[in-house]
Amino acid sequence: MDKYDIGIIGAGIAGSCLAILLADAGKSVVVIEKNAYPEHKVCGEFLSLESYHFFKSIGLPLDDWDLPIIKHLELTSQKGRELVAPLKMGGFGLSRYTLDYELSEQMKRSGVHFVPETKVTKVENGTIKSSAGNFTAALIIGAHGKYAPNYLTRPKTHNNHNYIGVKYHIKGDFNSDFVSLHSFDGGYCGMSKIENDLYCLCYLANSQKLNKHENTIKHLEENILFKNKRLANVFERADFVWEKPLVISNIKFNKQEVHTNEMLFVGDAAGSISPLSGNGMSIAARSALLLSQLILSETHFNTLAEKYNVQWDRHFGRRVNKANLLNTIMLNPTLHHMVLKALQTFSPLQKKVINDMQGKAFVRDTKLIR
Ligand SMILES: Cc1cc2nc3c(=O)[nH]c(=O)nc-3n(C[C@H](O)[C@H](O)[C@H](O)COP(=O)(O)OP(=O)(O)OC[C@H]3O[C@@H](n4cnc5c(N)ncnc54)[C@H](O)[C@@H]3O)c2cc1C
Repeated sequence: MDKYDIGIIGAGIAGSCLAILLADAGKSVVVIEKNAYPEHKVCGEFLSLESYHFFKSIGLPLDDWDLPIIKHLELTSQKGRELVAPLKMGGFGLSRYTLDYELSEQMKRSGVHFVPETKVTKVENGTIKSSAGNFTAALIIGAHGKYAPNYLTRPKTHNNHNYIGVKYHIKGDFNSDFVSLHSFDGGYCGMSKIENDLYCLCYLANSQKLNKHENTIKHLEENILFKNKRLANVFERADFVWEKPLVISNIKFNKQEVHTNEMLFVGDAAGSISPLSGNGMSIAARSALLLSQLILSETHFNTLAEKYNVQWDRHFGRRVNKANLLNTIMLNPTLHHMVLKALQTFSPLQKKVINDMQGKAFVRDTKLIR
């Protein structure tokens, strides 16, 4: 059985970026991913521009892909209020299918041993047990995303909100420079342009609303989402690319512990941010960069874990809490309507609330040894 310096569970954005950064710095890295790769994932596919140069710095030629750059935020409420505001940082659109595929290709170029279609079932004494056998590593990182994995027993979190996520790819004559957030009772729907003249239409809804509407997406959309007339209009005008949407359930947003006594966590596995911030993917990439810097400078596990814990909170703690507060506002039609009115009236407040959740731009600063 080969022994690696680093074993990473999950090849989402956090796991892939971390693997590339560490392999490029001379570490032997194995990444184990349970799914066939790549696949479509439920995600709004709007990336904050803070991570644009980072993705370029780890090898993705984003400039060559002619991606839509998005500079305006549009907010609409169920009660008919609308607001369009410029975004200071802005974002770009890219499907998860393409992004995850390109990251997996870069992993291979960087010399990472990538093992797809292999589920990790247990982590014990430096060994990752999986459906394809065992892998040993000096340091094991959980990059398994937002769902509690079966290989960990974590205490249950006290979060009563539970959401479903639904995603479509659509075509149509829409504004390519906007990321829109249309709110409805118990949820909101984001829409923005991605590659190949497609738009990603993705919503989050309180799962109780689905239960009330015969557990069908169609009824949920007709009876709840379409009360926001702007959103109903988008659905009416859209040309749907897939026959059925992608649907996931049991979504929660929490800060988790960033380490146990034998492993560290990165990306959503360490803490997931409400998607309305359009920041989860950039935070996954940024947390991979932060962790790679610490791994390359600190060899003692306990000190590494301690430093990572402090720095994670410093970098992301406030953003996650703020986004979760805004999430609560977006889910309540009356509150959302009132907040939109306040934002329209007080422009300094508008600038602060809209731009405050985005972080600063970042790039790879670790040395390439490979
Ligand atoms: C509805 C919705 C919309 C969103 N919209 C946006 C948006 O527009 N912009 C944005 O920036 N963020 C958005 N996000 C958040 C973003 O998707 C996440 O923050 C991001 O995917 C986190 O990346 P990650 O690498 O931590 O996890 P993931 O991308 O989830 O990757 C985790 C990987 O681990 C694998 N895995 C899990 N368990 C195992 C196991 N036992 N063995 C092996 N592999 C395993 C999974 O298959 C997966 O590939 C959205 C989230 C939701 C739910």
